[in-house]
Amino acid sequence: VVPLSTASRDPSFINRMKKTKKNVAVFYGSQTGTAEEFAGRLARDCIRYGMKGFAVDPEECEMDELTRMGEVENSFALFCLATYGEGDPTDNAQEFFDWLQEDHDLSELRYAVFGLGNKTYEHFNAMGIFVDKRLEELGAVRLCKAGMGDDDANIEEDFVTWRETLWPAVCEHFGIESVGEEGVMRQYTLETHEDINQNEIFTGEPTRLNSLTQQKPPYDAKNPYMSSVKVNRELHKGGDRSCMHIEFDISGSRIRYEAGDHVAVYPTNDPAMVEEIAHLLNVNLDDVFTLNNVDDEAAKKHPFPCPTTYRTALLHYVDITHPPRTNVLHDIIDYASDPKDREFLTRITASAGKKEFAEWVTDSRRDILQILKDLPSLKPPVDHLCELLPRLHARYYSISSSPKEHPERIHITAVLVDYHSKLNRRIKGVATNWLATKIPNGPDGPRVPIYVRKSPFRLPFKTTTPVIMIGPGTGLAPFRGFIQERHHAKTEGKPIGDTVLFSGCRKKLEDYIYQEELEGYERDGTLSQLNMAFSRDQAQKVYVQHLLKQQSESVWNLLNDGAHLYVCGDARHMAHDVDMVLHDIVEARGNMTQTQAKDFIKGLRNKGRYACDVWS
Ligand code: FAD
Ligand code: NAP
Repeated sequence: VVPLSTASRDPSFINRMKKTKKNVAVFYGSQTGTAEEFAGRLARDCIRYGMKGFAVDPEECEMDELTRMGEVENSFALFCLATYGEGDPTDNAQEFFDWLQEDHDLSELRYAVFGLGNKTYEHFNAMGIFVDKRLEELGAVRLCKAGMGDDDANIEEDFVTWRETLWPAVCEHFGIESVGEEGVMRQYTLETHEDINQNEIFTGEPTRLNSLTQQKPPYDAKNPYMSSVKVNRELHKGGDRSCMHIEFDISGSRIRYEAGDHVAVYPTNDPAMVEEIAHLLNVNLDDVFTLNNVDDEAAKKHPFPCPTTYRTALLHYVDITHPPRTNVLHDIIDYASDPKDREFLTRITASAGKKEFAEWVTDSRRDILQILKDLPSLKPPVDHLCELLPRLHARYYSISSSPKEHPERIHITAVLVDYHSKLNRRIKGVATNWLATKIPNGPDGPRVPIYVRKSPFRLPFKTTTPVIMIGPGTGLAPFRGFIQERHHAKTEGKPIGDTVLFSGCRKKLEDYIYQEELEGYERDGTLSQLNMAFSRDQAQKVYVQHLLKQQSESVWNLLNDGAHLYVCGDARHMAHDVDMVLHDIVEARGNMTQTQAKDFIKGLRNKGRYACDVWS
């Protein structure tokens, strides 16, 4: 079996470019796979302009060679870079980011950047913006203005729009022309297996064959731990939503975690959806296949672990629930036998059809199954579909326990994603609905692949430092771990500083999660203040920031005493609104101007005294 990524590949990308006559290197900083997918599409675009491109993981090559780009004639580099967390590079771009802090001569480099970010976060596209500016400072020549993708709106549209400025700029710079309209070029060829040993078939492992059955520490993203679910209970007492308290067993796994870390869960798609796709496309789900990259030099030999069955691919490896991107629909147009369907797909995937695409696909949340149902003549071969759909990625959860009190368990607090789209179709979140089925039924509960991802979201080193934690809804999750940590210190007889919580929910009697625990911590003095905002128990909304404002004097005093501030939960509105109120408090109580208050809060951030763990 060929490994997914060939570790022995030459780390010199310049050598690889020379050897394979490529002149465009497309680097990606990717956490969930979108930047990598965009990089692959840009690399394929090159053919249309008589060039040869390839997508490169900066972690797997010597980025110092960017200083030698002049050795390859008519060469340039593209960068698709996601921003992660609080304006950070993705894990695989961290070293490249560090390298850019030093001085280099990049006068031989021509480049363009597309950033992937999310406007709900404060440091929107920080990585893309930094790299674009820094490369220029180091002498590189920018080919076109950086693109700024916003995942909160329509990142696909942003990408397509940026691409429309990139290629004309490239043509002008190099004095070339397009060599023709893009035909559909497959990146992988299909190989089928009639007689194959069952032990050689991947069954959902992210990387190594049999890694889920023959478990070996250390566990990480490539080698997750099959943890047994010991507890899965409902936290809501009423209402029509559900929030799960789940406990993963990590005893004997050698997994360590700290309060504030995240745990990643590899989910499985809904088997009923997979069956429906198979039925519509007339697929035998148990057929075994391999997709082999046509490019021998490509970083990825296969789009996901192969050989595998179509059932495994559709259940574990590809994302079948998010609305597909333009390129997916574009590349399957010819499989529609009805000219009307072909015409429709051609129209919405063309440049001028962006608005219609956004309406019909993205905003209506049409997934691939719904599209196949709505366009009955569209019958793409399932292997081509598997090639085009993005990878199904792991979901992160803020760990809601402390290892001091639960060394052998990881707790999470997850709200079930279940809502109706604009078209009134029911949309069920992949991971949360799958987790909802993981009910312990014996000594060895159902198993779930997980790994821990370290986070900088940490309690202060000294237990006596005051903390202010702000997290409504599931934003309470990491703070439950923090409170357990302080409770543990207290039971050991250590002095603990002020521990103040601002949390909230819709209705006290319905979705007040961990009520008994929190009230217990308030009674025993672990929590010095428990401020709960119930937004729907009265006519006007009461949110955490309203309670913060009411407590402004005490908040200000705590800050003067060196308190650390934490915000967790909804990135879209809450984190921003809380930040505004914090500015108001500092301005009013500290007798500061707006600018002084801004600098004061910035200072807190820089000193690691104001941290956010937010998601949208
Ligand atoms: P998916 O299938 O991924 O669908 C979710 C998508 O549906 C969202 O991206 C959104 O676009 C859309 N959506 C969801 N609700 C609606 C709606 N009402 N209307 C319109 N569109 C909607 N979640 C927790 O519950 N608890 C946590 O502690 C937690 N911690 C996190 C920490 C981090 C660092 C991050 C990045 C995320 C965290 N999340 C947490 C979110 C979690 O990772 C998943 O995104 C979430 O559980 C949904 O996953 P899913 O597979 O069920 O849904
Ligand atoms: P929730 O129960 O929806 O909300 C918790 C509390 O926060 C409610 O009382 C709510 O009030 C309040 N609130 C709403 N807007 C606020 C604002 N601007 N400032 C302060 N408080 C506000 O919480 P949740 O279920 O934990 O979800 C929180 C958010 O996380 C969601 O809104 C969503 O954006 C995000 N989320 C995303 C996913 C995902 O799939 N990616 C999954 C889970 C959560 P009202 O509702 O009464 O206004």
